[in-house]
Amino acid sequence: MRTIFTFPFCFFLLLLLLNSCYKGKSVDLIVHNAKIHTMDDANGVFDAMAIKDGKIVEVGPERQILNRYSSEEEIDAGGKDVYPGFTDAHGHILSYAQQILSVDLVGCKSMDEIIVRIEKYQTKNKRKFILGRGWDQSLWSSKDFPTNEKLNELYPNIPICLIRIDGHVLLANDALLKLAEINPSTKIDGGIIYIKDGKCTGLLGDNAMNPIYELIPPFPKKEFIGAIKDIQTELFQYGITGVHEAGIQFGDIALFKELIDNHSFDLNLYAMLMPSEKNIAFAKKNGVYTYKNLLIRSFKVMGDGALGSRGALLKQAYSDQHNHYGVLTTSVDDMKRIASICEKIGYQMNTHAIGDSTNKILLDLYQRVYETNKDHRWRIEHAQVVEPKDFDLFSKYGVFPSVQPTHAVSDQRWAVERIGTKRMKGAYAYRTLLKQYGMLAIGTDFPVELTDPFLTIHAAVNRKNYDNFPASGYYSNESITLEECIKGMTTWASFASFQENEIGTLQKGKDATFVIFENPVVALAEFQPNFSTYTYIKGKKVYSTE
Ligand SMILES: [Zn+2]
Repeated sequence: MRTIFTFPFCFFLLLLLLNSCYKGKSVDLIVHNAKIHTMDDANGVFDAMAIKDGKIVEVGPERQILNRYSSEEEIDAGGKDVYPGFTDAHGHILSYAQQILSVDLVGCKSMDEIIVRIEKYQTKNKRKFILGRGWDQSLWSSKDFPTNEKLNELYPNIPICLIRIDGHVLLANDALLKLAEINPSTKIDGGIIYIKDGKCTGLLGDNAMNPIYELIPPFPKKEFIGAIKDIQTELFQYGITGVHEAGIQFGDIALFKELIDNHSFDLNLYAMLMPSEKNIAFAKKNGVYTYKNLLIRSFKVMGDGALGSRGALLKQAYSDQHNHYGVLTTSVDDMKRIASICEKIGYQMNTHAIGDSTNKILLDLYQRVYETNKDHRWRIEHAQVVEPKDFDLFSKYGVFPSVQPTHAVSDQRWAVERIGTKRMKGAYAYRTLLKQYGMLAIGTDFPVELTDPFLTIHAAVNRKNYDNFPASGYYSNESITLEECIKGMTTWASFASFQENEIGTLQKGKDATFVIFENPVVALAEFQPNFSTYTYIKGKKVYSTE
């Protein structure tokens, strides 16, 4: 039978066709009237983008996108800045969660204030093991490391562990030292046990903290997961959509997978494994491991301690401690062993190196991987003090510098005291490092620093802290530009985690992971707070101020 199209029916079809042409291709979301910074090589800025199935379909001029696409969901960005979601290329979600549930010692001005905070915390929480975090003796009038006498008097039976802000030194009371079987004659490789008048002061540095860490009981799971969720919200609020988690233990893999399965964790997590035997076995078995938004393909190795607690290994003695050089916390042989495992299974090696000696050891060690793989992307985390003549090795061996600009302006209180002005020429030298490799991975090292990426921008570009100090910038010859800093948190951070095909730029085919900022993203001489209005991950709204 012939189908006969009547005139009204043909007219209806024509209307439908015209209408669909006019309405354009259907997508899930259109963002328009925006300043979309693509952060790709061309550094394009566009008005609008269309998103479907979690991916960017097209970025372009306002009329082009609105004419070509239609969507039930549209965001008129009101001319605001849109960027790829920021990545914190070196953070510690798990330590931060621990800090949130512990006694908060950040900003304490004396041992007395620490005691007051512990008493307040304990009245409410009644823990059988007291964990505190965040003290920093460089803020105290004496600037001397604390000792545990007052803790012993007040808490003879409850173990107490108070971790310094940098995570490289802790203060334990005698009850805890006894449990850990640490006494003045104990020797721990790569660790410092502080002794005064033949007695332990309670202060333990770097590897000497390990026996204590094994005794810290886990927080109730519900509380711990609650803290992780709070951290995630805090990060979203700043436009952070990914974290390079700098060191997880074996059990943490299951925890993150559980959070992901329960739809409680949307952050892109590039997790570095600590080189424990269990983790090494996991890596050998699984190789490059992806589980939804979790990616594991690297090891985090601890090269030395921190500068503030004089644990960083220097070529020459500390300027403020006679004959003291710091410590190597992983032996060169162990580092070599981890390097060959990484080479074999295609993992990236990311090593914490603060002192100029440790940086040189690592640069030499990374030469081996460069010989077989020019694009290995092995990282040095912090690269904080480098002897000027060693900088060239970063480009020579293709070593990726991963830096935290807020460290420069936080450490300004004591950095010169520790290493003297001559060595400062190679310290916190982000511009020099950028010139070497052509990229920087930029993060905060939270909870050592705050999570706010705008403080990072202020520190990197203006070389100033939150209080806009110092007025002329701290060693401002090493400042980088706003664009370079943002690249370090987007494009370059994605490269540093082998994810440049999915995230880091706003281009066709990439994940629709982006943030619309409340205020223009700028780096004025005075610190300007900024926040996200909308944060999206793979096309899903994970945060908004509405
Ligand atoms: Zn760290």
